[in-house]
Amino acid sequence: MNVRQIGAVAAASVLALGLTACGDSGKSSGSGGGSGAKFKVGIKFDQPGLGLKEGSKYTGFDVDVATYVAKELGHKASDIQWVQAPSAQRETLLSTGQVNMVVATYSITDARKEKVSFAGPYFVAGQDLLVRSDETAITGPETLTGKKLCSVTGSTPAQKIKAKYPGVQLQEFGTYSECVAALVSKGVDAVTTDNTILAGYASQAQYKGKLKVVGKPFSEERYGIGLKKGDKATCEKVNSAIAKMVSSGEWQKAVDANLGPAGFKVDTATNPPKQDPCT
Ligand code: GLU
Repeated sequence: MNVRQIGAVAAASVLALGLTACGDSGKSSGSGGGSGAKFKVGIKFDQPGLGLKEGSKYTGFDVDVATYVAKELGHKASDIQWVQAPSAQRETLLSTGQVNMVVATYSITDARKEKVSFAGPYFVAGQDLLVRSDETAITGPETLTGKKLCSVTGSTPAQKIKAKYPGVQLQEFGTYSECVAALVSKGVDAVTTDNTILAGYASQAQYKGKLKVVGKPFSEERYGIGLKKGDKATCEKVNSAIAKMVSSGEWQKAVDANLGPAGFKVDTATNPPKQDPCT
């Protein structure tokens, strides 16, 4: 190939990329979505049992809930495009329209409701602590004074520690998997977030026998499905879909399949939850 030919090939591929990009964004604008349009769902990529990406495979309870809800909204599984939604980026992803919905261990809070709307809840978890198996001194949040604790930027557990336990040395990372790696390498003494998430890490093959969940939840984390602020019509459709997932038995099946392997005990006093009215 001579220089001109190479130039022509390069130009053609740039053109092809450009066309693909245009076609994609054109098709996926708006949340109504017809056939062929990509329905973009924000999930976690690194939380086993909840939202996990392994190669091109996506698994977890949030993935199953999102797939069920999307189908009820008219989007088949093959039309879903999974987008990574780290804790601190969820509101922005929704308000800028980069995703149509967020199903990512996303607690419903009044502060977040200023920026986004929530359908749900579809699950109730609780904040807990993950420590190394040989840990004996850390038995609850009140035993963390002077200890190094890891959590994630923009998460409710990090916020709770800052507000209620100021004596703790809190380190904030971008994802919980980074916190767990720091715990194993003794860079921190504990990790805090929802008990569902911590159970998933503790049961991962690479960490088996090395980590334990303290098992005394000290908050209520009501998982909602994040939507663009004010989209009451979609919120109501999503709430109906969640209610149908529960009444059909699919919710329990998804709980058992995804949280069961980690030995996670679902709190049946709060689960399955009733959905809040959409506002
Ligand atoms: N459910 C909590 C939250 O929404 C913690 C889990 C997470 O960061 O995704 O902040």
